[in-house]
Amino acid sequence: MPTKLAAGNWKMNGIAANLAEAEALATALPAPGCEVLICPPATLIDRLSTVLAGSPIATGGQDCHAAAKGAHTGDTSAVMLKDAGATYVILGHSERRTDHDETDADVAAKSEAAWAEDLIAVICVGETEAERDAGDALSVVATQLAGSIPEAATAANTVIAYEPVWAIGTGRVPTTEQIAEVHNDMRRILSDRFGAEGAEMSLLYGGSVKAGNAAEIFGVTNVDGALVGGASLKAADFQPIVEALAAS
Ligand code: PEP
Repeated sequence: MPTKLAAGNWKMNGIAANLAEAEALATALPAPGCEVLICPPATLIDRLSTVLAGSPIATGGQDCHAAAKGAHTGDTSAVMLKDAGATYVILGHSERRTDHDETDADVAAKSEAAWAEDLIAVICVGETEAERDAGDALSVVATQLAGSIPEAATAANTVIAYEPVWAIGTGRVPTTEQIAEVHNDMRRILSDRFGAEGAEMSLLYGGSVKAGNAAEIFGVTNVDGALVGGASLKAADFQPIVEALAAS
């Protein structure tokens, strides 16, 4: 069975005071019943991993550079994420693909860099609204999967997050049929390419997941968890999502 994972992406939100939310979540969920991950801004990774030490909640980065070090002002390497206490890193989020022109090849190179430091890569894919309207959602996701995942991917080093761009931060969520269609296709593609490893890889859905829709989404075949943005910022919002996943 793929590992169930509830992953929170704080994006560019959070200062030291917000660490209390992660602490509250760890206190409320001493044995969550699934994997739980919080990816804060880079400035908080070190402190968050310290706060969460001894708890079952993991810390992750939101991006890494493909190089281990060098003249790349403003960037963070996988070596640095690991040194700060991260065990996961989100790669190829649509906001990075849009704001920083990241390509599938960039995401693949970053994944290799993450694996070199034993970080689990959470590789994001997903179509825009125009692409869905054009009937291209499955082909867009298939192309992103082919280009963003290096050959050495395994169920242990890679998690895939399907995040339709039009559902991120909008309050709009695909129907369960639409989520199932994409997730089933992703499972087929990954199993064809990676065999048993592809069959075991965790597939997250992301895009406006909330306490009120989590259980329904986790009931969809081949949905093994969620990548959660806004609703991961407060323990009171994220806790019921984690509990819904554990109960699914
Ligand atoms: C995300 O940023 O990955 C995300 C899914 O955001 P939200 O849950 O706010 O839509």
